[in-house]
Amino acid sequence: MQDKPIDKEDILKELAEIHELDYDYADGRILGSMCTEAHPFAKEVYCKFLDTNLGDPGLFKGTKFIENEVVKSIGELLSLDEAYGNIVTGGTEANIMAIRAARNHARKYKGIVDGEIIIPESAHFSFKKAADMLNLKIVEAALDENYKIDVDSLKNVISDKTVAIVAIAGTTELGLIDPIEEISKIAHENNIYFHVDAAFGGFSIPFLKELGYDLPVFDFSLPGVCSITVDPHKMGLAPIPAGGIIFRKEEYLEVMAVDSPYLTVKTQSTIVGTRLGASSAATYAIMKYFGRQGYCKLAAQLMENTQFFNEGLKEIGYEVICEPELNIVAFNHPNMDTDVLAEKLEDLDWKVSVAKCPRAIRVVLMNHIKKEHLKKLLEDLKEIY
Ligand SMILES: *Cc1c(COP(=O)(O)O)cnc(C)c1O
Repeated sequence: MQDKPIDKEDILKELAEIHELDYDYADGRILGSMCTEAHPFAKEVYCKFLDTNLGDPGLFKGTKFIENEVVKSIGELLSLDEAYGNIVTGGTEANIMAIRAARNHARKYKGIVDGEIIIPESAHFSFKKAADMLNLKIVEAALDENYKIDVDSLKNVISDKTVAIVAIAGTTELGLIDPIEEISKIAHENNIYFHVDAAFGGFSIPFLKELGYDLPVFDFSLPGVCSITVDPHKMGLAPIPAGGIIFRKEEYLEVMAVDSPYLTVKTQSTIVGTRLGASSAATYAIMKYFGRQGYCKLAAQLMENTQFFNEGLKEIGYEVICEPELNIVAFNHPNMDTDVLAEKLEDLDWKVSVAKCPRAIRVVLMNHIKKEHLKKLLEDLKEIY
């Protein structure tokens, strides 16, 4: 730090210059991100709650009420009348909380000490962090030819050490939904904690179903589902950081509770201590402002763009990995290596993302990617080959 204070103007000018290095969603060139520009109204509300601290809810009763309301609303969206949980920093923290709840529950009620979690090969890397932090072993369930959990493979790896089974509603790489109904049954029969990671899909699948899209059931209407991760900062258009962890029962929070002596509440179940209320307030605001109708409109628009891009790719000779279930398209060219294709796109200033399972260019059709950007991208792709 320098010795003397610097004028605000000068600091702002310097920061603006540095900020120029960042890509801007509005340019439509960020193709692989699951985040997007937050809605302006959500950002406005966010700024009003910057000083609130949900780590000490006795001091911020209003903001705590807002968090509870958001959890309740997301719970309702997921067919749960009485929801428990928190608005956290994102899908990673939500998944860590779910796995921690499962581990502690299994330790308390089944005496399992060296636990294992079963995750699909398509699971987000946040589960690796969770397993590492919580001292659990990861056991992978194989995928079938459609890149979804192979249920027989899953059954085969269940053991008396299994503390949780994880399935995905909207995989990070392909946007696919695992056979959650079948897995819920298996988990229920075996009395094993079942977590659904809908970080990406949670804010679109319910709305697409409402619009008549033929998508499978993935939520708390299935009795085996114990918790669901949903990220407001992805398809919910809330500012970063906003993740949601929703539990079916309060006991899953209770098994994680530790004493919090100097605070206004006696115990705390979240990983983070001092934590922002701004995310809850912004998510509350955007959910009210959009309503189900607003999110239905958004989901439908993004699926229309997805189909437009999907068809356009096939017309110019590219191969898609699978027909999209949500707003993600993954593709390759039959005569070109994926990495070479990615490099050529990067040379044309597209910010692409490469999926690893299977290797393919992956485009997440978020709200900042408009039809005009897709037309330009298709032109470039045609040119490349
Ligand atoms: C994005 C994502 C995560 C991680 O969420 P962060 O908000 O980046 O921490 C976890 N699971 C799935 C399925 C995701 O798509």
